[in-house]
Amino acid sequence: MKCVMCGTKLRAIKGAPTYDLGLDRPIVLVGADAAQCPNCGEKYVGVPQVEELHRLVAQSVANKKARLTPREIRYLRTWLGYSGAEFAREVGVTKETVCRWERVDAPAPMGRAAELLLRLMVATRSPRHSYPLKEWGADEVEPATCRVKLADGKWCEAAA
Ligand SMILES: [Zn+2]
Repeated sequence: MKCVMCGTKLRAIKGAPTYDLGLDRPIVLVGADAAQCPNCGEKYVGVPQVEELHRLVAQSVANKKARLTPREIRYLRTWLGYSGAEFAREVGVTKETVCRWERVDAPAPMGRAAELLLRLMVATRSPRHSYPLKEWGADEVEPATCRVKLADGKWCEAAA
């Protein structure tokens, strides 16, 4: 395979490549193919089953124990397909409030009821897995770390 930017032959990258979904940390894709151009540095990561990957990441974030970060709230909202105004209507707040929840520099804390609703929305769009409602909600806010791998052509969570 050759670099689209400069035509140089690509070199395979060892180790798990990462994939940026706009979350606090890039997603670690265990077992995915990745290559880099030795000339211009352009990276190429093979990401099959992208929709399934996005669903798995949404579910993983919605299942985490710590409170959601602003970037995670935004990721889950947009994964659900809501604009800020639409999500505000669903949750019963103003769209300015949704903006403040998603502000990375000076976020307003999302109320626990709204956070639970957002997590439930994600869970009910992904009914294949159980949802451990009891387990989230310690007061600390910490970004999720997502490691996913391809198994038989499907994305699944990979142990840390
Ligand atoms: Zn190149």
